Amino acid sequence: MDEQAFAALAQPGIRGLRAYDPGLDLVALRRAAGAGGLVELGSNENGLGPSPAARAALIACLDSLHRYPDPLGGDLKRALAAHHGLGVERFLLGNGSHELLMMLAQVFAGPGLEVLASRYGFAVYALAAQAAGATLRLAEPNPAGHAMPRGHDLVALAAAVGPATRLVYLANPNNPTGTWFPTADLAAFLARIPADVLVVVDEAYLEYVTDPYLVSAAGLLDRHPNLVVTRTFSKAYALAGLRVGYLMAAPGLVAVMERVRESFNVNGPGLAACEAALGDAPHLARVRRENAGEREALADALQARELAVAPSQTNFLLVDFGREAGPVEAGLVARGVVPRPMGGYGLATCLRLTVGSRDENRRLLQALDEVLA
Ligand SMILES: *Cc1c(COP(=O)(O)O)cnc(C)c1O
Repeated sequence: MDEQAFAALAQPGIRGLRAYDPGLDLVALRRAAGAGGLVELGSNENGLGPSPAARAALIACLDSLHRYPDPLGGDLKRALAAHHGLGVERFLLGNGSHELLMMLAQVFAGPGLEVLASRYGFAVYALAAQAAGATLRLAEPNPAGHAMPRGHDLVALAAAVGPATRLVYLANPNNPTGTWFPTADLAAFLARIPADVLVVVDEAYLEYVTDPYLVSAAGLLDRHPNLVVTRTFSKAYALAGLRVGYLMAAPGLVAVMERVRESFNVNGPGLAACEAALGDAPHLARVRRENAGEREALADALQARELAVAPSQTNFLLVDFGREAGPVEAGLVARGVVPRPMGGYGLATCLRLTVGSRDENRRLLQALDEVLA
């Protein structure tokens, strides 16, 4: 039996799926890059690296790798509860927030039900809906010329909620656009959404936000039991390799999701390192400060080259080249700089560029100047 024959045996939602496209072979590119090294700006990783406290906690785990981790993740959850000023029963840990985003659809959506997201929302939302066999509905985003081009249009999203809608996925700030909306707009949106429609606010980049009008949606949890907020240790905390994320929601929602959570979904080194990382506020402050400075400098430098850069509160910039971006991508890769192509999002004229260190950004701009000349 070939893949097609097995697909016919799969659940209806799985039949239409395609496996994750890992894109370029980074392992091979790293090997070929030579002394200068590869400038990896494709996955929004934090090149400053994690807190030294997280590294120490990880090393301390090496003598207990034969043990199963705490299936409750109690220490990390209590640290998160104290960090956010919320009850520990509001927290669910995931193998990255990706796992939690998938689980939400598995638990609350399904055939005959709708999942709502914005066009140019994070790719995992569509995947989660499809894998659950639910119908994905896309709301149109902000138009060109808007202050947040291609960003979430909360009025359009609210209008698209129908009787079959069970889940709405929003990212604030959003990936891949970098755009955001103020917390007050989210509060107004939630007031318009029926209580039996879950609103998932993905805050993967919240630590990078400098706009005072955007704070975590976690402050709205008390008023809105249908609100779910997801966070990750993969981005600003620089622990993408450990795969740890979490959600905050009503205790009853967490209890239902616990029914399908794999008992040891978060590994022991991950639990320990994330707890330590959470305790190192000065390191996170440095990450935020350096990113904000480099983000502004890089956006200015790109705009000075007459490129259209979307506003961003994240650690990446969406750049529109106004023409098919494939050749620009190829030219950058040939010079040891790896961007993220956006064809999969229907944005073939764009590339997404992670804000790197000053030196990495300099290499990016130099390569770009050569490619665009
Ligand atoms: C990177 C990212 C995530 C999460 O990743 P995990 O590593 O699985 O925690 C979630 N949402 C968005 C929008 C992201 O960009």
